[in-house]
Amino acid sequence: MYLNISKLNSFAKFFFLLLSLNAVGQEKNLKNIQKLTNGGDNAEAYFSPNSSLLTLQVSNPKANILCDQIYMYDLQSKSYSSENLKLISTGKGRTTCSYFMPDGKHIIYASTHASSEACPAPPKPKDGKYLWAVYPEFDIYIADLNGNIVKQLTNTPGYDAEAVVSPDGKKIAFTSTRSGDLELWTMDIDGSNLKQVTNGLGYDGGSFFSHDSKKLVFRSSRPKTEKDIKEYKDLLAENVVAPTEMEIYTCNVDGTDVKQVTHLGKANWAPFFSPNDKKIIFSSNHHSTRGYDFQLYMIDVDGTNLKQITWESEFNAFPMFSPDGKKLVWSSNRQQTAARETNVFIADWVDSDETENVKPEVLNKHISYLASDELKGRLTGSVGEQKAADYISAQFKALGLKPYSGKTYLQKFDYKVRLSPNDSITDKSETNYGRNVIAYLDNKAAKTIVIGAHYDHLGLNEHNNSTKPNSKGEIHNGADDNASGVSGVLELARMLSKNKTTEKANYIFALFSGEEDGLIGSKHMAETLKAKYPNVVAMINMDMIGRLSDKKEMIVGGVGTSPEFKKLVEKNKPAGFNVTTEDSGIGPTDHTSFYLKDISVLNFFTGTHGDYHKPSDDTDKINFNGVKNIVEFVFRIANDVADLDKVEFTKTKANAGKTRPKYKVTMGIMPDYSEHPDGLHVDGVTENRPAQVAGIKEGDVITKIGTTTIKDVYNYMEALGKINPGDELEVTYVRDGETKVTKVKFE
Ligand SMILES: [Zn+2]
Repeated sequence: MYLNISKLNSFAKFFFLLLSLNAVGQEKNLKNIQKLTNGGDNAEAYFSPNSSLLTLQVSNPKANILCDQIYMYDLQSKSYSSENLKLISTGKGRTTCSYFMPDGKHIIYASTHASSEACPAPPKPKDGKYLWAVYPEFDIYIADLNGNIVKQLTNTPGYDAEAVVSPDGKKIAFTSTRSGDLELWTMDIDGSNLKQVTNGLGYDGGSFFSHDSKKLVFRSSRPKTEKDIKEYKDLLAENVVAPTEMEIYTCNVDGTDVKQVTHLGKANWAPFFSPNDKKIIFSSNHHSTRGYDFQLYMIDVDGTNLKQITWESEFNAFPMFSPDGKKLVWSSNRQQTAARETNVFIADWVDSDETENVKPEVLNKHISYLASDELKGRLTGSVGEQKAADYISAQFKALGLKPYSGKTYLQKFDYKVRLSPNDSITDKSETNYGRNVIAYLDNKAAKTIVIGAHYDHLGLNEHNNSTKPNSKGEIHNGADDNASGVSGVLELARMLSKNKTTEKANYIFALFSGEEDGLIGSKHMAETLKAKYPNVVAMINMDMIGRLSDKKEMIVGGVGTSPEFKKLVEKNKPAGFNVTTEDSGIGPTDHTSFYLKDISVLNFFTGTHGDYHKPSDDTDKINFNGVKNIVEFVFRIANDVADLDKVEFTKTKANAGKTRPKYKVTMGIMPDYSEHPDGLHVDGVTENRPAQVAGIKEGDVITKIGTTTIKDVYNYMEALGKINPGDELEVTYVRDGETKVTKVKFE
């Protein structure tokens, strides 16, 4: 990012923080989504062996189904509705977890009816914790499709449930407390030959067989600390579990080769093997900022290539592939007609194009090289910049991309360089030489989209753009700024050129130099872009995408430069991201050069940080998973912009009060927006406003508001965001070297 105009702009950026957008994204793997039921709680729907029927669990007070019962659903029906449901459990007690037997004419399920015909009460939350019941009254039965029980498979005391049948028809796997802990067990299809499969402390459950019947996939909570172990045991003694920490595991059917597949945190559950057994689909809220936001994900059995499958509503779980692998059923609270209802959905399954997955190890390779000491900070015009340009050119060549113009990917330019940000350019100023590296992907389309990032950085601080005092001679590696954005462009070039789809746009992949000296390279390219490529409709820029925080906050700029852009950003945002949008096409980096040529722009940015423009902006601080998510986000947007009939350009106002967030309070000071090491400098105070009333004057340096330490304008805005009108807080400030404390009543 270019420092000089960034001060003002990053302040403006801050105004839109916390504008969290709802995710309505694209579900590329799910075509022809259809709602099968309407109303109530419909869950755990599983296919019959020939895919013509489902068995599922239903409760629906409006239909007088007061306690979970098992129903059959006929998928051959002319139209889909709850009228296709037929009760096949006894209607007594509570039931759960049904599954078809190999003949397709019987089901297996768990029920409490033998113990009592009444509905056992659901557990109450304890200490605010959501709990699942493991009713000891559950036993496993086989019934025909008219609801007649033909066999009871278990009769030991304690919980026996969650039974599933192997595709080869030989085995049943289920969960039982008969060993004293919740473990997976298997038996032969006739109920004989009982074997304990798992034996780790914790809830091993919800298992399903692989299609070759050799493996089980399951979810497990494995308490580790003494406190967690005690809590787990105490709850289990009361026949409940807290399903808030679960990960996905696999093992052989005999219990050997136990592998933990996910390490995501929070609740990862309801796993099912993909048709080729190489992947696992499951439900997870690991991304969520609230507890209740479950989306379907897919992951390779070795724990790599996590990919989000669903994007709609706050609950998606219990996925199952049809035995032929062509359909997916799952439960979701999308398309609700009343609050709290969960319905069963079916969709045609479309396999992902593997080349469209961003590979974190490839991002790591690109960033590690570009931000290595060997490249000495990639100062425009330096040997390190040339090495970086050679590296980028080699990547483009390996992908078979065409040069943008001429015979090589290089576009050279020269400019009068400012050796200090405060210098003015004169004829006597030194001339510096830079090179952009630009490639073209020809999809024979009517429009062209530029995807760009700058690859230059501050070198050894020869041009005095560092924020670290006296850092001349130190290598400024610029891993976030902006090896991260370069890695994104290189991955997008690979994905868009090597995938199976021919997009409805051509793409120009542009890596700029001269950015840190004032957007020089991008300005140079933008000058003649429309003469060379008159059908360019949009420019998407990435500058500093490497520092996604735990809160997953990022800023997307330029959404006001085309009427559709804001919607596209909302629609494609990764689950759990807090995306702040900014209308303006002007910002502290290269997209500005294109906006000023009337091209619609977007800029992706994970925010500034303490290592910004310092030698400490290094590869080890990069959040690679964050970069992956953002690059896949940009990929979806690059596709959606290509799909637009028309990309209309709109001029934006400079960031102004219009999009200011609604802070409930003000303090009545004018902050100094530039960075100082000692705190927030007060440039002025407003008469009769809280600061002035409390005795704060122009020139004071605020260091603390309440318990929040104030280092700059960002901390200040953050602190203000948490204060309510009427709150009275201590404000610490420094005046003439003396620390003072005053009480400010905010209004
Ligand atoms: Zn920069």
